[in-house]
Amino acid sequence: MKRLDAQARRLQRRLSRRRKGSKRREKAKRHLAKVRRKIANKRQNWHHHVSRKLAGKAGTVAVEGLNVKGMTRSAKGTAEEPGTMVAQKAGTNRVILDTGWTALKGMLEYKAANVIVVPAMNTSRKCHECGAVEAANRRTRDDFGCLACGHAAHADLNAAKNIRDRALERLAAMNETSGAGVSARREAFALATSYDP
Ligand SMILES: [Zn+2]
Repeated sequence: MKRLDAQARRLQRRLSRRRKGSKRREKAKRHLAKVRRKIANKRQNWHHHVSRKLAGKAGTVAVEGLNVKGMTRSAKGTAEEPGTMVAQKAGTNRVILDTGWTALKGMLEYKAANVIVVPAMNTSRKCHECGAVEAANRRTRDDFGCLACGHAAHADLNAAKNIRDRALERLAAMNETSGAGVSARREAFALATSYDP
């Protein structure tokens, strides 16, 4: 993906250098379109792979309601989730993450029995062990260390557990109001603890 992304940028520059209406420009245009199609296909394959894997592991999958518009607009992000976004921009999977979230979520929705979207607020700042919310808890992109209780974990894993809990709370509340029974609450929430792409 990184290689293709660099190639597309190189071809974009080449295209802009070539004279409008020229044969060489047309050729560069076709080449660029081909690379962009390749990128789109690769991304789609990856989404199918990940959503199939997740849906195979759990009937209910909890996802964060990320602000995708905000994510693509600026690398500095929102006041809510500054670290996450910058990290994604910097990562090698930048292209996939930036443009693919909505598509991936859509695939999950038809592959998994149940997709629950929960608010993203503080999921990466909150300590899953003691509940303390502190921006400095997230030391680096990958590293979570609670200033209150000392709990240390991979930042994504800590956040995933918060997302799972939030979804479970939501499910419980839904079951209480609808009286639909408790079975949904016992769904396997394997995502947070076993997800390994
Ligand atoms: Zn803690």
